[in-house]
Amino acid sequence: MSALFRKVGGMSRGDRLVNDFLTQMDAYYASPASGFYDNAISRRYYEQKLRHLKFTPYPNDGLVTFGASGTNLCDRQLVFKNDKATRPEKSDDIPFRGRQRRLGTAVVDYIQLDIVHMPKRLGKGALFTMAERKNTDMFGNVTFEWDFEEAAQERKVFEYPHPETGELVQFAITAKPDGKFDYAPDGSRIIFEYKTKASGLRAMNGKLDYKGAQDDHVRQVTAEAIIFGINEALIVYESTQKPAWFSDEERTSVTKGQKTWADGQPRPDLRAFYVEITDDMKNALLSDLARQAALVYEQRAGGAVPDVTIEMTDSCGFCAFSGHCKATLTAENKTVLKRQESAMAASSMAGKAEHRNLTTYLEGVSA
Ligand code: SF4
Repeated sequence: MSALFRKVGGMSRGDRLVNDFLTQMDAYYASPASGFYDNAISRRYYEQKLRHLKFTPYPNDGLVTFGASGTNLCDRQLVFKNDKATRPEKSDDIPFRGRQRRLGTAVVDYIQLDIVHMPKRLGKGALFTMAERKNTDMFGNVTFEWDFEEAAQERKVFEYPHPETGELVQFAITAKPDGKFDYAPDGSRIIFEYKTKASGLRAMNGKLDYKGAQDDHVRQVTAEAIIFGINEALIVYESTQKPAWFSDEERTSVTKGQKTWADGQPRPDLRAFYVEITDDMKNALLSDLARQAALVYEQRAGGAVPDVTIEMTDSCGFCAFSGHCKATLTAENKTVLKRQESAMAASSMAGKAEHRNLTTYLEGVSA
């Protein structure tokens, strides 16, 4: 089915929003006009970016501040991040990874520029438009900015009970979303997050079909819902691999597992997921952040850094404290992890993701 003729009618709200969004995106990119930027819109966009090109520190209130996109750090990583004596490790990476990171950043910049062009290019077909925020300066002058990134950034302080002790714990959350949409059919507002995937079309679709939106991305929009009071979100994934320009279904030089077209259509390079953020989701997140913030305050007061657990090793791939973590692993913690690894190796868990993560972590730990 061509993306331009997506089905309508008899849908849940989530399906309708996803359908409307993807239809809008396809209509825009199918149009030859998407290859040209309007000078006035582009100037306004870049001027807004320029206005926010500055460093704005958090208030010096001593509170643990969670970035919405950083609410999935392992307990130990969070403690290291908030410990002034521990610096993130900056070492050279494989060069293509740097290029990939820069590609991801550029794609998000361009999607925002494209979205602010859509009302002009699509007219009433632009059901989702970037929300605008009204700013009033000290002289009463009113200006409007698109409600995304730094222009939208807010930090709020919370006091929430610790899930085990019940004691109130203070912490802050800061969020700067990829966007907030106005949805024309009913005037509702929707949080927008855009993620690029470098794993390839088939791998991206296979994973999303199986698991839906990533847990850490759902956590991110939950944090944003808490900050902005918007309880619906679209999490959108774009594969940086695109289908072959022309169908590769009949091309014998392309193996079956590498074909990017199926049934006469390109495989989707864009997927969207609707998330309705409930009070239970918000409370669960706030409770977990209260627990984590308490770990930081305990460590600042002279307490121990949390031990490494098997679950934590799921996050090691992108951790900036990996060397420090391994170097400061206690002998007891090391013994426990090695015993767990041996048990996994001898069980049906052998070679599965959890086992691999633990093995990789232990590889860097001195004997
Ligand atoms: S290396 Fe892994 S376990 Fe250690 S702090 Fe980083 S994510 Fe956590």
